[in-house]
Amino acid sequence: VGFRSLKLVNVSMEEALPAEPVGVAYGRLANGLTYYVRSNPKPRMRAALSLAVKVGSVVEEEDERGVAHIVEHLAFSATSRYTNHDIVRFLESIGAEFGACQNALTSSDETIYELLVPVDKPGLLSQAISVLAEFSSEVRVSAEDLEKERGAVLEEYRGGRNATGRMQDSHWTLLFEGSKYAERLPIGTEKVIRTVTHETVRNFYHKWYNLSNMAVFAVGDFPDTQAVVELIKEHFGQKASISCPPPVIPEFPVPSHIEPRFSCFVESEAAGSAVVISCKMPAGEIKTVKDYRDSLAESIFHCALNQRLFKLSRRRDPPYFSCSSAADALVRPVKAYIMTSSCREKGTVEALESMLVEVARARLYGFSEREISIVRALMMSEIESAYLERDQMQSTSLRDEYLQHFLREEPVVGIDYEARLQKTLLPYISSAEVVKFAENFSTTSSCVIKIVEPRAHASLEDLKAVVLKVNTLEEKRSIPPWEEEQIPEEIVSQSPVPGY
Ligand SMILES: [Zn+2]
Repeated sequence: VGFRSLKLVNVSMEEALPAEPVGVAYGRLANGLTYYVRSNPKPRMRAALSLAVKVGSVVEEEDERGVAHIVEHLAFSATSRYTNHDIVRFLESIGAEFGACQNALTSSDETIYELLVPVDKPGLLSQAISVLAEFSSEVRVSAEDLEKERGAVLEEYRGGRNATGRMQDSHWTLLFEGSKYAERLPIGTEKVIRTVTHETVRNFYHKWYNLSNMAVFAVGDFPDTQAVVELIKEHFGQKASISCPPPVIPEFPVPSHIEPRFSCFVESEAAGSAVVISCKMPAGEIKTVKDYRDSLAESIFHCALNQRLFKLSRRRDPPYFSCSSAADALVRPVKAYIMTSSCREKGTVEALESMLVEVARARLYGFSEREISIVRALMMSEIESAYLERDQMQSTSLRDEYLQHFLREEPVVGIDYEARLQKTLLPYISSAEVVKFAENFSTTSSCVIKIVEPRAHASLEDLKAVVLKVNTLEEKRSIPPWEEEQIPEEIVSQSPVPGY
């Protein structure tokens, strides 16, 4: 069926989207473990596997700072069935990079182990699943294992203390000031890495690695999906959680703030200057058709704004080289609208002013129906391509969708339904519906402004002054509407190639 002949859906806005993921064998074992299995031929003879744990560094106590990440390292060190030697040999046999940090990632809210496995050699898939099952409940965590791993973790800690690392860390701290997230960078503290006992690490592992907090994912070139489900049952079915009942994963709120926060970073190695505006808001959820429609309208907002930001960057004497805006999940309870620009060395204040003016302009006058219809057409052609190329999906992309379903309850409705839904909803999303998202992007909406310069030029006072200036302009409606005509279209401004 082609996209054009796809039937529209007849749904009410209140209708719930399917809670269970579509197009994947999905279920839960008696011990609480969730599984997702799907046969997918791209790439051929490969499978993308994962074990995800809904627990990361934010649950750590003060004397455990860095322990979630240490557990990730120890998983590759020794388990009940495998020694370090066995695990390295196994990773070699599947052509993987060695160990922790190559095949795993610890963040604030989750820990994810990933393996890309060839399935043409008999037994490898089964062994890979058995390794993930060992990670789930059989990591040894002895005093000796911990001593062996401290050095590697300390080295990683020191590697992150360079200028870029320190800048990223202090931006993170400013972004989450007032919440526990600010104090729980996954790498932890040097003191804990040096001195934590194996008992503390083991207790953390046994408490939080509960099978009900975990899911296993297998997407690959399988001749038989059900046979892979059986392999998961075989290797995980006998595992039991040590903590029982499962621990409740606490919510760590991130307080909102009206006063914007500012930071100026000087990074001598930086190639150029940059400005980043982040506005935080609750992560929200997509449970109904109405939520889905809102998320489409939100995408249209960023896309329409990006069209203008791009046009500004193509003007003579532009305020920045490039600038774009997007919504991004930051931590479990919070997402942000993030606008980033790169600009000339002494141009951060000018770039910031232009960025703030553009959002204010959108708030004051919205977008024209013409601008919105261009964006709608762009999005329609994107979903059409996704639909037409639905058999070309990479196993890793499918696995990542299922990961988001498990970790953040993002709906997986299947490409057929999603294409029909977008085809039905997109034409009716109006400019008025889109413009309300500009409110989330105001400097009073939990806003954090950061600049990066190779040498210090702008001060915090300069940044505050620009915010005040643009807010005053907006209040007085002294910002003129967007004028489409003043920017020549790219295609008109290009001189024709001689000879054609
Ligand atoms: Zn690491």
